[in-house]
Amino acid sequence: MKFKQFGTKYILRIDKGEEIVETLKNFCTKHQIKLGSISGIGATNNATIGFFSANSKQFHKKDISEDMEIAPLLGNITTMNGETYLHLHINLGDSEHKSLSGHLNRAVCSTTFEAIIDAIDGEVDREFSEEIGLNLLKFER
Ligand code: FE
Repeated sequence: MKFKQFGTKYILRIDKGEEIVETLKNFCTKHQIKLGSISGIGATNNATIGFFSANSKQFHKKDISEDMEIAPLLGNITTMNGETYLHLHINLGDSEHKSLSGHLNRAVCSTTFEAIIDAIDGEVDREFSEEIGLNLLKFER
């Protein structure tokens, strides 16, 4: 991974073989980015995406092991229990330009991945909601 910083924005190049979610998370922790947005494009051939069922409150996972364009990855940076928390969704395009999308668990870069992180000077935490079954953004009432 290589990067360059411009004020509160960072541009990153994640390289072949690097796992994108872990690389982004470690980058945010190292640079103390506690709030912001992430967008990126590139490719993967080894990824796990999820679909959250509102009824069962369960994630259904799907492994992908073919060449896919990441078009795009989009998400946010917050914190939970003092740790960097990334919430990322992804749209993947196959060789016939058909899309698969979902919550992103992991994706190994197969060529290159180009991300832009837009950091916000602030902090928003998360807390688990029993009702919804997800870690929601936490705001004081
Ligand atoms: Fe999600």
